[in-house]
Amino acid sequence: MSDDEAHRRRLDDAAAVLRAWVAQQYDEDRLATTPGTAEDRVAEVMHRLRADPAWDGQLPTEEVLLERIRLDMAGEQPGRSPYLEGLVGELREGAVRALGGQPAGAPVVALLARTPFFFARTQEDTGVDDAYLVLLHHRFPLYLDLVARSIAAVVPIGWFVERPSAHEMTWVIENRMHSEPDRTVRTFAEAAVSLAEMRTDVTGGSYPVAPERYAHFTLLLDAALMFVLGHEMAHYEMSHDGPPRPAVERLGFARAPTRAWQELQADELGASIAAWTLRTGRGIPLGVSMLGAWQFFLAWEAFDLSVHVLATGDAEAGFGRFFLEQENAGTDGAYPSISMRRSTLEATVARAAPGDAGLEYFSRTFDLIRQRFLRDTAFHAEHMAAVGPAGRPPTGGHGPGFA
Ligand SMILES: [Zn+2]
Repeated sequence: MSDDEAHRRRLDDAAAVLRAWVAQQYDEDRLATTPGTAEDRVAEVMHRLRADPAWDGQLPTEEVLLERIRLDMAGEQPGRSPYLEGLVGELREGAVRALGGQPAGAPVVALLARTPFFFARTQEDTGVDDAYLVLLHHRFPLYLDLVARSIAAVVPIGWFVERPSAHEMTWVIENRMHSEPDRTVRTFAEAAVSLAEMRTDVTGGSYPVAPERYAHFTLLLDAALMFVLGHEMAHYEMSHDGPPRPAVERLGFARAPTRAWQELQADELGASIAAWTLRTGRGIPLGVSMLGAWQFFLAWEAFDLSVHVLATGDAEAGFGRFFLEQENAGTDGAYPSISMRRSTLEATVARAAPGDAGLEYFSRTFDLIRQRFLRDTAFHAEHMAAVGPAGRPPTGGHGPGFA
């Protein structure tokens, strides 16, 4: 057995011990659970979809649904996700390239139903060496699922290779969003507002994706989750909480002393882990893997914006508070602002891959989509603040122009 193989086997053993620890540490009540058989769940989902006009004429077959739900339920313990564990398995391969050697620890993913945070967090103090926890709120992957569906619906499939002009992009994206005001945009806005209200009705799959866009959508979702998981892996490998680990020196990184610095460093290395994984494992170019990072930033931005609009009950005042908070972010050692994180990451990636036209191209496309999403999210939050969760915005309305 080579040294690398022995190292990996040790990490796998540590991960198995940590998984058993997780099952004890978080009792069932705190974990996401899916009661009933796969067949029961399919009947339930079909019933919901038949009643939802968004799915009119686009219902998947029961076989397709059953297959997806079986996969969702394949985790033997509550809180486990075979899908996320599969992504982590892929990332461990890409991490060897991004880290310039074997990772120091094995990440173990757990989905929790009740957490003080909405996104993801790394936890090291588990008593298990060489393995660490990546905790996610169980609704967070569903939320990113809706973001990815919304983006897949408005970006024409051919653009992944065609790269049209900025003028053509603006025209097509505007038209697509206008033509689907009650689906794509509102579904994303509803998800952002639901999350901010801590409601539990954010459900994956509630916005249909045309069959020819399905591969496209799953790639966008994988890329977004890979960035998030890679970011959490980076916190561990860069020793942000624990003892010194070899990748810090190997990559010539400084040991980041402040929270803000740590976040920027985790973004950079996390994007690198995700990009190497997608490139070497699946042949996906840099620009597309970066779409994953931007989707996460968009999701966070929409969530924060919703909080402020709901609090003030007014989209303009909510935007004002949101931008003020963002301007002051990072100054007191707290999290850096979303725009600082995005621009720092883009500058770093552009330096690492000079002349990569895909990066600039997808960044520009994404900004067009982002402006519209934020405007509709603010409008939806304002409406919810006024009428409560049961209300829905009037069909086709998009509020004042904040873009
Ligand atoms: Zn972080």
